Amino acid sequence: MDIISHGLWGGVTLGKKKRRNFIYAFGISILPDILGEGIMFSLIFLGVSNMPSIEQGHPNITEFPVCVQNFYNATHSLIIFIVVFALIWIITRKPFWLLLAWGLHIIIDIPTHSFKLFPTPFLWPISDFKINGIPWDNSIILIPNILLLVIFYIFWFYKKKIKNKIY
Ligand SMILES: [Zn+2]
Repeated sequence: MDIISHGLWGGVTLGKKKRRNFIYAFGISILPDILGEGIMFSLIFLGVSNMPSIEQGHPNITEFPVCVQNFYNATHSLIIFIVVFALIWIITRKPFWLLLAWGLHIIIDIPTHSFKLFPTPFLWPISDFKINGIPWDNSIILIPNILLLVIFYIFWFYKKKIKNKIY
């Protein structure tokens, strides 16, 4: 999914209680792409890595160093997410619910990325299994995504307005 939609989905599902929660949920939702893909583009920008060759209109990300690919895998792995979520829960003795925005990012990415570009390595490092989804820029995904976001946000603001009128 595109990065803005990730942020908006995280915000509307997990950040509704307080403005601060919305900012955190939005931020955590976009972080996997900022870290995972951002590091790849930063390497190209800094001249450390060459621009990957374009195959069938998409860059071949397997040309990036393995450690960079693994970092992307880690940011898009449900296994890593569950381990981190559990560790924080154990260490702080309470769940950090807003971190679910990370898990939501991965779940949204699984069906919205095809094998052509960034298929989601959601079972990494246990398995390399990936799903050949429909790319998010395909109108079959893009239009319903925008419509659903609009509906969710209108519903949220409408509910908030009613609540503010009552109290
Ligand atoms: Zn992503």
